[in-house]
Amino acid sequence: MFYDEIKKYDWNDTTRCIAAKTARDVEIALGKEHLSIDDFMALISPAGAAYIEPMAQLSQRYTQERFGKTISMYIPLYITNSCTNSCVYCGFNHNNPFKRTILTMEQIEQECKAIRNLGPFENLLIVTGENPAKAGVDYLEKALQTCRPYFNNLTIEVQPMKSDDYYRLTKSGLNGVVCFQETYNEANYKKYHPAGMKSIY
Ligand code: SF4
Repeated sequence: MFYDEIKKYDWNDTTRCIAAKTARDVEIALGKEHLSIDDFMALISPAGAAYIEPMAQLSQRYTQERFGKTISMYIPLYITNSCTNSCVYCGFNHNNPFKRTILTMEQIEQECKAIRNLGPFENLLIVTGENPAKAGVDYLEKALQTCRPYFNNLTIEVQPMKSDDYYRLTKSGLNGVVCFQETYNEANYKKYHPAGMKSIY
């Protein structure tokens, strides 16, 4: 499990290790084709700040080698701002007193048509808060089916779900999933995610 892997790294030790990297460590990392975790720590260390330009040039080279000169664009469609969580950094926070909306399938279809009228967007990112009771898997399934005829690529940015649920959504046209973990600092996680499902690190 990913959690077992991340537990191997102590936040404070890692922070100290990054801060201790030197300019020489950065130069060694920049000279390698395959980097270790230690090399990566050197690149993101304070000492690495002086090497942003060579890093940018390397990054550009690798990106072009792997992907060519392509730019991938997507357009987000927020289908609900309803959320049961109270993440402190988010406007959708359950405690913020404003009227919540959950788009109907007719409204979602209108949005799809409006987006198509804007131009040749083929990648749609469907976004929600976390409200499994009112906008859960059944709702997402219908939303995907509604959007599917209008776009070649459908991605969702919603609450984490079970594998079976993701699998079910692929049957309705889901191509990709975006899932955010805003911090891997387990000690501080609860401070930023005080309540709701997302409070579980
Ligand atoms: S779960 Fe997502 S939408 Fe809900 S409050 Fe947190 S960041 Fe915002």
